[in-house]
Amino acid sequence: MSRHAPLIDGFGRVHTDLRISVTDRCNLRCSYCMPLEVSFKAREELLTYEEITRVARVAAGLGIRTIRLTGGEPLLRRDLAGLVRQLGALPGITEVALTTNGLLLADQAGALRRAGLTRLNVSLDSLREEMFERIARRSGLDRVLEGLAAARREGFEDIRINAVSVKGLTEDEIVPLARFCRVEGFHLRFIEFMPLDAEETWEKSQVLSGADVRAILQAEFGPLVAEASADAGQPAVDYRWADGDGRVGFIDPVSQPFCERCDRLRLTADGQLRNCLFSTVEWDARRLLRAGGDDDGIESLLRSCVAAKRAAHGIDTPAFERPARAMHQIGG
Ligand code: SAM
Repeated sequence: MSRHAPLIDGFGRVHTDLRISVTDRCNLRCSYCMPLEVSFKAREELLTYEEITRVARVAAGLGIRTIRLTGGEPLLRRDLAGLVRQLGALPGITEVALTTNGLLLADQAGALRRAGLTRLNVSLDSLREEMFERIARRSGLDRVLEGLAAARREGFEDIRINAVSVKGLTEDEIVPLARFCRVEGFHLRFIEFMPLDAEETWEKSQVLSGADVRAILQAEFGPLVAEASADAGQPAVDYRWADGDGRVGFIDPVSQPFCERCDRLRLTADGQLRNCLFSTVEWDARRLLRAGGDDDGIESLLRSCVAAKRAAHGIDTPAFERPARAMHQIGG
């Protein structure tokens, strides 16, 4: 098949987005994502920036257009801005984005901006230090807020703030986060809690759905008006505040799965390709790269990964099987 044929799966979904995890390490210990006591991958198990760029270059030749760097906490990896620069220079890549907890952002925002980072998502579940620590099992709210301010100063626009919604835990954070984002002009998005916690305590009853969150917001701020998405692959459904003052988004993978428009592939920090967050199978790019595999080999691996993609993650089906790895090991 021609190098330029796009990555289309058995259900006609064209893949244009690659999520790249650069590390499984994190400086927080959010209970929905990772265990409190954790052993991380050895450095040599992680792909080097050259290896990551090589996979991305082949993927870009097959129609990948946007890249999001994630982890673990990606800002823990040395000179992430250098990787941003390399990826942004690849022919065909139109966007290099970053998802971060923001703890190290104040120091790195300038370098990331100069390296050409196009988009920034900062994860933040609470504006109260006590609650921040309860969820993240580490302190650091003030540093996240400093990071956000620094990102603004460096010229990042349309910064998104992602908050996970867990029933019985995050309800009281919703209105303060919304008020903060409306005043500061951040684009807030709520993400339903998914079965990717390391401690495997997830139950459907713990999912605070997007609809539940909208009800809380509407009781406080008035009606929310759904917006048509400009980007079909975008997992979030955006709503406008009735007073027109910005938007709020909902990523509802549990209550409203969006698998039919999924355009995403993932590369884990240890070099495994995945076609879904919930995939139980991985395609070993690291072994191929380190055995001297050529670009045709990488292309074949990408195509095999895409061809095996299931119609849907199936969280709601009796056959659903949790992946063996938790979110911080896959890359959110
Ligand atoms: N450390 C970075 C950060 O905090 O944004 C990047 C990695 S983190 C795994 C990416 C996103 O996944 C964060 O917004 C986090 O809140 C979210 N996340 C982690 N575990 C989750 C889960 N079980 N369900 C839903 N979202 C989750």
